[in-house]
Amino acid sequence: MTRYSIWSLARNALSHHADWPRQWRSPAPRPAYDVVIVGGGGHGLATAYYLAKEHGIANVAVLEKGWLGGGNTGRNTTIVRSNYLWDESAALYELSLKLWEGLSKDLNYNVMLSQRGVLNLAHSLGDVRAGRRRAEANRLNGIDSVWLEPEGVKKVCPPLNTSASLRYPVLGSTWQPRGGTARHDAVAWGYARAADARGVDIIQTCEVTGIRRDPDGRVAGVETTQGFIGAGKVGIVAAGHTSVLAAMADIRLPIQSHPLQALVSEPIKPVLDCVVMSGAIHVYVSQSDKGELVIGAGIDGYNSYAQRGSVHVLEHQTAALCELFPVFARLRMMRTWAGIVDVCPDASPILGKTPVPGLFINGGWGTGGFKATPGSGYVFAHTIARDEPHPVAAPFALERFTTGALIDEHGAAAVAH
Ligand SMILES: Cc1cc2nc3c(=O)[nH]c(=O)nc-3n(C[C@H](O)[C@H](O)[C@H](O)COP(=O)(O)OP(=O)(O)OC[C@H]3O[C@@H](n4cnc5c(N)ncnc54)[C@H](O)[C@@H]3O)c2cc1C
Repeated sequence: MTRYSIWSLARNALSHHADWPRQWRSPAPRPAYDVVIVGGGGHGLATAYYLAKEHGIANVAVLEKGWLGGGNTGRNTTIVRSNYLWDESAALYELSLKLWEGLSKDLNYNVMLSQRGVLNLAHSLGDVRAGRRRAEANRLNGIDSVWLEPEGVKKVCPPLNTSASLRYPVLGSTWQPRGGTARHDAVAWGYARAADARGVDIIQTCEVTGIRRDPDGRVAGVETTQGFIGAGKVGIVAAGHTSVLAAMADIRLPIQSHPLQALVSEPIKPVLDCVVMSGAIHVYVSQSDKGELVIGAGIDGYNSYAQRGSVHVLEHQTAALCELFPVFARLRMMRTWAGIVDVCPDASPILGKTPVPGLFINGGWGTGGFKATPGSGYVFAHTIARDEPHPVAAPFALERFTTGALIDEHGAAAVAH
């Protein structure tokens, strides 16, 4: 990546930075690839990058129906943490967090990871018990999670209303100091640039419309809006459209697609230097580097692919925000948007092989997959390259819905983030 060294920065300054080459190519699709990844979000791009970097498989195409990172990767509220309850999830999300911690250097691209800490507030005895249990379980898994009493919470987050007279007073909180936020676009662009540099073809405005199989049932390639593209292996990494893609290979998934909305306020001076989430009052908030409050909460209740949601969901989350932070009550909201999230019954992802040889799935991340982007790509690349699940990915196989070995993370996923 000497293209982006301090010397090339200085050299390009002489021409007012007008002559930088494009960060990745836009090639026409080749007739066939070793691996085709469907979906140019963070997870798909990370998968392609690790296929090339860790497994020497660079004859790879990432096919994206729209533009890079235009799905949930570019629509999420960028919260990163690893404080999930069960050992299987802790392993997956902590692997991701460790990769996040070295990602800017690895990609030579500033993904603006900001480890400002994450609070998960407790407002009832049930919340307190679940939070304490989760913090202890996290510590057994080597994750930096602690339990804070209300005074400790107030110290970490002074603008938060911790008055005992609140409708649902703050009774404590889990606190993960290594959690925080990252710049979503930069993650997509960083992986894209690094994958392209290793020979991966990134093909935008190329929608997959069918999955072709050999007479013996094995994957042969994909039908697309730019013609047929042959592939020895195909990875579906399409978030809200995972079940649509799987249906093209006659696979029914236990996934429901819902809109998930978020909104940002007008920018204000720095006031909130951690991430605050409340599952019970149901809102979460952080402050972006531009000063906007970034606010989210839960999914819209109905299934949809429309990438927009209902006003009452936004009303609810802004009311919850004002309850926790009365000081924000007079802020104006600037923008709202939605993504389509792929929700599994146990709030855990599906990672691994499918009944169709050569076809792999990385989906079902629902409302919380951004934080997993590096780890997801890492273990999925291993799974595709070796044709067997990475040990960290193995518990997340599709078979868990028939064996019953579910990984119920509804508590840790709680308020959607
Ligand atoms: C409002 C909102 C807030 C969120 N907040 C957080 C958060 O704070 N923290 C967190 O960890 N997670 C969060 N998430 C979840 C997170 O965004 C996702 O889990 C994650 O980004 C999924 O990444 P991806 O690469 O799998 O999906 P995407 O980025 O959606 O990429 C999938 C791509 O597949 C493409 N595609 C679909 N069908 C086809 C086809 N037929 N052919 C070709 N391409 C196709 C789509 O266009 C899309 O670009 C949030 C999500 C939303 C919507």
